[in-house]
Amino acid sequence: SAKEAATQGHSKQRMLEKDRKYVWHHMSPHNEGPMIIVSGEGCWLTDMDGNRYYDAISGLWCVNIGYGRKEMAKAAAEQMDNVAYVPMTQAHIPGIELAERISEWLGGGYRILFSNSGSEANEAAFKIARQYFNQIGQPERHKFISRHRAYHGSSMGALAATGQAQRKMRYEPLGTGFLHVPPPYCYRCPFGQNKDSCRMECAEIYDQVMEWEGAQTVAGVILEPVITGGGMIVPPQDYMKRVKEICDKHGALLIVDEVICGYGRSGRRFGHHNFGVQPDIVTMAKGLTSAYSPLSATAVREDLYDAFRLSGGLDHFRHINTFGGNPVSCAVANKNLEIIERERLVDHASELGRRLRDRLMSLASHPYVGDIRTFGFAAGIELVEDKETKKPASSDLIAKVMTACKQRGLLIGKNGDTTPGYANVLTLAPPFVAAFEEVDWMVSTLAIALSMLP
Ligand code: PLP
Repeated sequence: SAKEAATQGHSKQRMLEKDRKYVWHHMSPHNEGPMIIVSGEGCWLTDMDGNRYYDAISGLWCVNIGYGRKEMAKAAAEQMDNVAYVPMTQAHIPGIELAERISEWLGGGYRILFSNSGSEANEAAFKIARQYFNQIGQPERHKFISRHRAYHGSSMGALAATGQAQRKMRYEPLGTGFLHVPPPYCYRCPFGQNKDSCRMECAEIYDQVMEWEGAQTVAGVILEPVITGGGMIVPPQDYMKRVKEICDKHGALLIVDEVICGYGRSGRRFGHHNFGVQPDIVTMAKGLTSAYSPLSATAVREDLYDAFRLSGGLDHFRHINTFGGNPVSCAVANKNLEIIERERLVDHASELGRRLRDRLMSLASHPYVGDIRTFGFAAGIELVEDKETKKPASSDLIAKVMTACKQRGLLIGKNGDTTPGYANVLTLAPPFVAAFEEVDWMVSTLAIALSMLP
C-alpha cells in the first residue's frame, strides 16, 4: 500500500523511539517530535504518516531544483559505477568539467577548489587569502571583516566570521582576527539614518575600520550579497560596489559568500551579478548540487592562484580534505547545472520572485508585519509587536505563525534561534520549480496564520 511504501516497512513509533535515543539533532538536540520525512517530489515532502508538506524553504535554502529528480539519481549511480572516489590530488572527469562550468557561470577567470560544505568553502577562502598575502610579501595581512547578523558557517573560522552572538556564545574563543561592522539594515539603520539622510554609512564604515585597524593588517572582507539566514537584510543597490572600492583602495580582498545566493536564488546566476561587482574569491555550496549530494567550492581569481605556483618549500596550498570534490557529488552538480540551464530555472526564479514580492505586499498592513524584504526568489517578513517602536516579535509569536502554516501543510523558515529579539524574521525560499499559483497559496496561507495571532 501507499502507506507501507511511505514507511518503508518501519513503524513510526519505533523510529521515533530510536530517534530520541540515538540522534543528536542540529540546532534542537531535544527535538521530541521531528517530522520523519520519507519522500519528496517537486516542492512537496511526505512524512511517515503520509502527511504532505509544501517546502517553502527548500530544506535549508538548498533544494533549488526540487525533490525527486530521477536524472540526478541516475547521474550519481552512473558515476558510482564508473569510479566512486578519486582524491583531489588526482583528477577526474566530472570534477574537471564542473570546475570549467563554475568558472564560466562566474563569467570566467576563476580557479576552483572543492570542499564539502559552505563552512569549509569559507575556511579555505580565509586560508587562501592569508597565504596569498604571505607569499606576495604582505605577511601582516591576516584580518577579515564581516558583518553583524551574517552567518558564514559552523566551524571555528567560519563561526568567527559569523556575526550572530547567539550562535557563538559558549564556543569562544574562535578563530582570531575576525572583526565585524554593522549590517546594511535599513529597517533598523544602525547609523540612525533614514532613506533621505542615508549616506551609505554602512559601506563607508569599512574604510574607517580598515584605517583604524591598520589597513596593512587587513586581508579581506567577507559578505553575502544579501544577508539571508540572518534575516534577509538587503543592502542599498550601490553598497557592494562601494565595499569593493574600499577593499581595492586598501589592498584587501573581497570574498563573496554565495552559499545561498548563488545558482539562481537571486534571480541571476550569482547574487553579486545583481550589483556589478567582480569578487576576488567566491564561495558556494547548497545550490551547487541542489543538496542532492554534499559539495562546495571556493572560486579564486586566476591571478591570486598564480601566487601559489612558486616553486618549492611551503608555497603551494597545503590543504586537503578527503571528500571534497568527490566525483559522485561533481557528477550530481554537473547534472544540476544542466537542469537549471535546460529548464531556464534562473529566469524562472526571477519571475517567481517578482510574483512573491507582489503578493507579499498584501501583508504589509498587518499589525505584526514590520518589514517585507525580498531578493530574487527569497523573502523575509520581519514581525514586530509594535509598528511604531519596532519592538521585535517574540520567538513565541514566530513559532505560532510557523505552526499555523505547518498545520496547513506549509513549511517556512525563520532566522536565528530562540534568543529573544533574534528570531523575528520569517523566511521563504521555495524551490525554483514552484508554480505561480503555489506562490499565491503560500502568501494566503501566511495571511491566515497571521490573522490567527492574538
Ligand atoms: N554561508 C552561508 C551564507 C550559509 O547560509 C551557510 C549555511 O547555511 C554557510 C555558509 C555554511 O554552509 P554549511 O552549512 O554547508 O557548512
